[in-house]
Amino acid sequence: MGNWRKNLRQVEPYVPGEQPRSLDVVKLNTNENPYPPAPGVLAALGELGPDSLRRYPDPTCGVLVRELAARYGVGEDQVFVGVGSDDVLAIAFQTFFHSSQPILFPDITYAFYPVWASLFGVPYRTLALDADFRIRKEDYCQPNGGIIFPNPNAPTSIGEPRSFVEEIVARNPDSVVVVDEAYVDFGGESALPLVSQYDNLLVVQTFSKSRSLAGLRIGFCIGSPELIQALNAVKYSFNSYTLNEPALALGTAALRDEAYFRETVEKIVATREEAVERLGQLGFTGPRPLGNFLFVTNPALSASRLFQDLRKAGIFVRYFDKPRIRDYLRISVGMPEEMEKLYDFLGKYAQ
Ligand code: PMP
Repeated sequence: MGNWRKNLRQVEPYVPGEQPRSLDVVKLNTNENPYPPAPGVLAALGELGPDSLRRYPDPTCGVLVRELAARYGVGEDQVFVGVGSDDVLAIAFQTFFHSSQPILFPDITYAFYPVWASLFGVPYRTLALDADFRIRKEDYCQPNGGIIFPNPNAPTSIGEPRSFVEEIVARNPDSVVVVDEAYVDFGGESALPLVSQYDNLLVVQTFSKSRSLAGLRIGFCIGSPELIQALNAVKYSFNSYTLNEPALALGTAALRDEAYFRETVEKIVATREEAVERLGQLGFTGPRPLGNFLFVTNPALSASRLFQDLRKAGIFVRYFDKPRIRDYLRISVGMPEEMEKLYDFLGKYAQ
């Protein structure tokens, strides 16, 4: 009888949203982009030769790093890429949050932050959002070992202006401040222009949402060369080959089609604005959304029951059974016709 069980790591993992295998559902639960990736991405897929599978990928991810540096007007030594922004964020936790002081993040935010903190042994303190679910920037002036928050925040979809982020960064010159901009392209104000001014600011973005490539897993961050060098040192201490060669080629193709990117983002924003209106008519309220999702409540309905009933009808949304937000649903913006199915269901449901 071995006693190996006593040496197992005990962790409480992050629980991702459901990925139903059936394609015959209205899937509004994981903030994916309902539009296909840019046409050039599928063309690049067809052009992949066997060498891109036979050989190890470029460990520096050079082609994608160069394209990102050009697109965002920064140096190649200011860009780091990873297997989704989850990978970039996890490496950032291991690289920058190495203090005995607690790191700070909001109480209602991306549920992966406390999981990484626990996994990597990083002490943390959560700070309560205000009654309107806004981040209270004054709270981020206390001693800390680092700061992280999404902007727009999740699951609230509330975005704050660049000046708000700048105040937090400027007041914390002794900490690395990580701004998770997974949803920024849908109307948020990016902190990227601040990177040249603040060497302690790291801006993290993803190809999963605005570039329709959640399945490919590409994330990146931009910061001072010193931060990027530190990230690379940790990455190369862990796994040299992160992005695979197909992901590098397809991600680069996605980045090259700026017009398609703008067009799909605009469509999603238009559908979101319509959703605010239509859900409002059905008795739902919530904060003004700036991501590709809405966070809504209806005082006449139980959110947990509605979540289950929607699911039975083949409409998947996200529900968090957590203090302060258990009366809310998070609804990703889908195709206009998918949203119609949602409004149709809700219109009948309320009666
Ligand atoms: N940050 C936030 C706030 C998110 O909601 C998500 C999506 N689950 C991510 C990061 C990670 O996205 P990805 O790994 O697909 O880039």
